[in-house]
Amino acid sequence: MELTGKRAVVTGSNSGIGLGVAEELAKAGAEVVLNSFTDRPEDHQLAEDLAGKYGVKVTYIQADMSKGQECRALIEKAGGCDILVNNAGIQHVAPIEQFPVEQWDRIIAINLNSAFHTIAAALPGMRAKGWGRVVNIASAHGLTASPFKSAYVSAKHGIVGLTKTVGLETAGQGITCNAICPGYVLTPLVEAQIPDQMKAHNMDRETVIREVMLDRQPSRQFATTEQIGGTAVWLCSAYADQVTGTTISVDGGWTAM
Ligand code: NAD
Repeated sequence: MELTGKRAVVTGSNSGIGLGVAEELAKAGAEVVLNSFTDRPEDHQLAEDLAGKYGVKVTYIQADMSKGQECRALIEKAGGCDILVNNAGIQHVAPIEQFPVEQWDRIIAINLNSAFHTIAAALPGMRAKGWGRVVNIASAHGLTASPFKSAYVSAKHGIVGLTKTVGLETAGQGITCNAICPGYVLTPLVEAQIPDQMKAHNMDRETVIREVMLDRQPSRQFATTEQIGGTAVWLCSAYADQVTGTTISVDGGWTAM
C-alpha cells in the first residue's frame, strides 16, 4: 500500500478529525501513533481496534500538547516519524475585552505552539531520511476571521504562517509542509450541538444545519472527517511532492466568498 513503511504521528487523535485522519492513514498502510492528553483504557483500546481493522501497527502515546517538552517527548517516544499531523486543538468564544487570559494562553499553546515543538523535534529524522510530510490541521479561520474567536483565529493564522516558513526551510529536501483548512466538519462534538440548536431556533435538524450552523458554508453541507483524512493521505502521496508551504481548503466554498 501507498504508505506502508511510513510512521505517522497524529496529535489529538482520540476523537473527531484527528481520529478520522489517523484512520485514513492506517487504511493507506501507515503505522500510526495516536495521541491525546488522557491515558484511559479506551484510548489504548482505540489503538488496538484500528490496528485490528487495518492490519497495521497502531500505538497510543499520552502527551499534553499544551506543554512544549511533552510535544517534543511525543516525537521521541514514537521513535521519530515520517508523517506528522498537527491536529490537537481547542476553542473558546468571548469578546476580546472579556477573553480569559488563561484561555488565550491555552489556545495559543495547544493550537499553535505545539506544532512548533513537534515540527522542530520531527524534522531532523525526516531530513536524515530525505522524506517527510508535515500536515497541519488549520481551519477556514486560518484564512478568515469571525468575531469573538480572537485566540482561535490568531492561532490558526499563525499556523498558516508556520506552514509557509517550514515549507521554505525544507524545500527540495523531499519534505513538504502544508495546512488543511477545513470549514465546518461533522465531528461528534458538532453532532452533539445539533439538538440544542434545534431547540434554540425551533427548527428541524435539516433546517438548523442549513440555515444556522452552515450559514457561512455555501455548499450547506458539512465536510466529513474521512474527507479531511483523504486530503491528508493525498498530501502524503507522490502526487503532492511539489505541493508545499500552502493551504488546501476543504470548506464547501467558505473562503471563496
Ligand atoms: P475534537 O475536540 O473532537 O478533537 C480535538 C482533539 O484534540 C481531541 O482528540 C482532544 O483529545 C485533543 N486535545 C485537546 N487538548 C489536547 C491537549 N492538551 N493535548 C493533546 N491533545 C489534546 O475536535 P475536532 O473538531 O476534531 O478538531 C480537531 C482539529 O480540527 C482542531 O485543531 C480544530 O481547530 C480543527 N478544526 C475543526 C473544525 C470542525 O468543524 N470540527 C473545523 C476546522 C478546523
